[in-house]
Amino acid sequence: MSLLIENGKVLQPNYSLREQSVAVEDTVITGVGGKEKMRKSHKRYDRIDATGCLVMPGFINAHTHMALGLAQGFGVGMPLFEMFENVLFPLEKKMTDNHAYLGALVAGLEFLHTGTTTINNINARWSKPVLKALDRLGLRGTMALALKDRDIKTSATFDCKSLPENEWLVKRLEDHPLLSGMFGLANEVEATESLIKTVRQLAVENHTGVHLHVAESLGEKGFVLQRTGKTSVRYLYDLGVLSDHSLAVHAVNVSKKDVLLLSKSRVTVVHCPTANLNLGTGIAPVADMLEAGVAVGLGVDHPVANMSNDLRRELSNALLLQQTLGKQLSLKQLLSMAFNSRLYGHATGTLAPGSLADLVVVSMRDRVVPQDDSSLLQKALFADSPVIHSIINGELVMRDQKILRLNEKNTLKKAQKFCKF
Ligand SMILES: [Zn+2]
Repeated sequence: MSLLIENGKVLQPNYSLREQSVAVEDTVITGVGGKEKMRKSHKRYDRIDATGCLVMPGFINAHTHMALGLAQGFGVGMPLFEMFENVLFPLEKKMTDNHAYLGALVAGLEFLHTGTTTINNINARWSKPVLKALDRLGLRGTMALALKDRDIKTSATFDCKSLPENEWLVKRLEDHPLLSGMFGLANEVEATESLIKTVRQLAVENHTGVHLHVAESLGEKGFVLQRTGKTSVRYLYDLGVLSDHSLAVHAVNVSKKDVLLLSKSRVTVVHCPTANLNLGTGIAPVADMLEAGVAVGLGVDHPVANMSNDLRRELSNALLLQQTLGKQLSLKQLLSMAFNSRLYGHATGTLAPGSLADLVVVSMRDRVVPQDDSSLLQKALFADSPVIHSIINGELVMRDQKILRLNEKNTLKKAQKFCKF
């Protein structure tokens, strides 16, 4: 597909805005420049008029659990372990492949409508239905399983039955055009030291990383401290599981020394402010992490613990939560989190020639806002400005707010019927 997106305000790699055209050929951005020059050099390209719109990279939602998409908001307002015991675990027992498939589709449709083009997904199981949904939606991303071998309530250990499925997933996605596999761990409490070491070794052998929850609530911190005399971050760092290919989700209950270890390990921390608020787990010291050179991304986390899949809410809540700590995040820092593409070799998250063509067009037509860069950006990022077009890997997956790869109305109707457990 050859596309020329014209007349929009294009987000530059330095996060300023310029009225330019963006050319997309096959899977990559081939040019960004002035309208007349771009028209001359891209005569046969299909044109998209982005007058009154922002043209920016698609958001990278660095942590989500799409299979649970039909259970959105079920666990909001309760403490983490209570949510696990009373909502999540019983729900997961009742779930079928159909629940997982339709849940992933529903979550994915919301991602597309709100500007997300890349996701890092992790679920207890359901690799096949979630993969089927991701293939239908055309989203880019990674998939992993939340492996565990210890009961959170009794501490009894058991065999990790999902490990072969995670190994299968990593192999299955080796040559996938949009998705890649990672290994996953539920968290530092539900995985034994032996499982953590096994997963780390498998990740190294398969040239991938580990996606895991870290220090989400005080419960994990207390458990690990009692057993090992170490903080969660120090414990996982010593086990070698935090690396530059890995995702450490939450890192809420961390010390100043832990922040330095996170920086030293080069792991990407994923901040999920809305889920942290909904489960009352605390506030991650994100401003301190950024200051210490930690790579930080943003995630919507669990549909059960979040009533929205719109990453813009995470931007807004990230900003507000740091305020309550007396710290400020700049617009640049917030954008660097929403477009954190380190896991993808920085091939996405920026609109420049040679980058993968993952971009969205956001309408500012009906917005009353000063026409300067930061006002436009802030309005687009912190309000529900409509996302009009979405392009992933050079393919137009949403045009004029219409999803092109599947019948959205029928999908939602079917999901509605399945939305009981
Ligand atoms: Zn999570």
